[in-house]
Amino acid sequence: LLTYAAENGLSGGERLAGIPGSIGGAVRGNAGAFGTEIKDLMKNVSVLNTETGEVKTCDAVKCDFMYRDSFFKKHPEYIIVSATFTFTPGEKKTIQKEMYHTIAQRNAKQIQGIKSAGSWFVNPAVNSTIQAQFTKETQKESHGGRVPAGWLLQECGMFKKRIGDIQAGTQHANYFINMGNGTAEQAMQLSTLAKTRVRDTFGVQLKEEVVLAGF
Ligand SMILES: Cc1cc2nc3c(=O)[nH]c(=O)nc-3n(C[C@H](O)[C@H](O)[C@H](O)COP(=O)(O)OP(=O)(O)OC[C@H]3O[C@@H](n4cnc5c(N)ncnc54)[C@H](O)[C@@H]3O)c2cc1C
Repeated sequence: LLTYAAENGLSGGERLAGIPGSIGGAVRGNAGAFGTEIKDLMKNVSVLNTETGEVKTCDAVKCDFMYRDSFFKKHPEYIIVSATFTFTPGEKKTIQKEMYHTIAQRNAKQIQGIKSAGSWFVNPAVNSTIQAQFTKETQKESHGGRVPAGWLLQECGMFKKRIGDIQAGTQHANYFINMGNGTAEQAMQLSTLAKTRVRDTFGVQLKEEVVLAGF
């Protein structure tokens, strides 16, 4: 979609470049990166209600989009069948440059080309003391009262922590990477350890962004 948009001089989605997955999955999870979320571009969405067989179109404003969340996460009976996006006219070369820049940033953070499900935990909302600590240590502002789960994990010694063949990322501790023959059980053990450490250190309960199947 973003490549097509760039080729046609349509700007707005450049910072989403490199997020893997389908449009349906991205809309359901309100996928986003570097300050842009799919909801920022979405005009409306057509959905099939699998219980009634009805297909209807809803405005984006009615989809309860929030940080990595939407109406569809709570209502799995709906399947997203199409979506309409609004882009703004832009210069093809400028759009492509910004997309390459985004991909380069993702590569630098080692969140591309690895065996990983992406961010394991959502960035949690934290109290003002933790927000201030984050800003002091990183010189970055928290957004909407949230700090990166990766930073909390790093503070708790989870950087490069490995159980079996599953390792917390070397550049981004919130990415659990399968280094070879990692198992779902090892990922769950690492997840439990991470949650315990963050809870004991900060009093913050991390919640998974990944969808767990079979647990
Ligand atoms: C390496 C890596 C990097 C990532 N980086 C980012 C990032 O920077 N930002 C970010 O937000 N996310 C990121 N992700 C997560 C990614 O956005 C989601 O995995 C993706 O958007 C989900 O889409 P999918 O098609 O893969 O869905 P799937 O993984 O196939 O499904 C995810 C969920 O969505 C549901 N679903 C899928 N399609 C539909 C549909 N049409 N209608 C209703 N429900 C549906 C499925 O039932 C399932 O519950 C990353 C993932 C990886 C692996």
